Amino acid sequence: MTLKCDKCNKDAIIYQKYSGMHLCRKHFIEDVERKIKLTIRKHYSIKRNETIAVGLSGGKDSSTTLYILHRIFGMRPDIKLVGISIDEGIEGYRPQTIESAKKLTDELGIELIVKSFREEYGKTMDDIAPMQREKGACSYCGVLRKSLLNKTALEIGATRLAIGHNLDDEAQTILLNHLKGDVSRMVRLAPPKELEGLVLRMKPLRQIPEKEVALYAYLHDLPLGFGGCPYAHEAMRKEIRTLLNDFEVRHPGTKYALLSGFDKISGILGREFPQEGLSNCSICGQACTADICQACKLLGKSK
Ligand code: SF4
Repeated sequence: MTLKCDKCNKDAIIYQKYSGMHLCRKHFIEDVERKIKLTIRKHYSIKRNETIAVGLSGGKDSSTTLYILHRIFGMRPDIKLVGISIDEGIEGYRPQTIESAKKLTDELGIELIVKSFREEYGKTMDDIAPMQREKGACSYCGVLRKSLLNKTALEIGATRLAIGHNLDDEAQTILLNHLKGDVSRMVRLAPPKELEGLVLRMKPLRQIPEKEVALYAYLHDLPLGFGGCPYAHEAMRKEIRTLLNDFEVRHPGTKYALLSGFDKISGILGREFPQEGLSNCSICGQACTADICQACKLLGKSK
């Protein structure tokens, strides 16, 4: 027997265990978009004449982020959306996602800027991965990509930088930071404050479970996935992901509880552990908290 939507009695396409609701296609899409609009209103209050850069890897999360921001702001002549794709230089993985980013931005009529590690840093991830390293490949990749995204967003005068982190990503990061006792990262996870040299980040999907992002992407013919990155070996995050998914099955709503608990204490955390002021990296000039930024340190640059 097909289960019916709790809002209109049409055939349901999803059961949200955490809310106890069966939803049809129309009401599922409305639910996702309502949560995203609420998140934007509550945490990011977009003003007139903003330029929102979207970090667009071309996968399901970033493509859904761009697609929904276009649905929300596409008719506003005072709001500009721009996609930024970073090509880290990962053979057999990144080229196809960049193609997918180009296809989507073409369809939506949105400008896409593609920047590469090779042009910016003179090295690709395929060069960095086999090198003797203190940290995992993802640590290098994450720091360098974040830095290049911010730099590019600044260059185009963006006032916001949207990224595709979903509820699962946020819940995993919160738990990971607790388990590592990393308070400074917890503070940085809170909805951002204006800091000179850093474009304000926004995460419109932070209230949407990963499975629902995938279903929304599927229903809108957005990219769903490309084989995994060959360097993805963040062992601890994988453990947390498995643990949280398992917990969510037995205790529906766990991921939302983690996020809302964090949101309640993030203001106190920010007051008790204020973020250090930013200066400029003495090598590349990017905003950072030390004399030399993380990206330059990881690349072994010195004055
Ligand atoms: Fe970079 Fe790691 Fe993501 Fe691969 S999995 S793209 S190395 S952050």
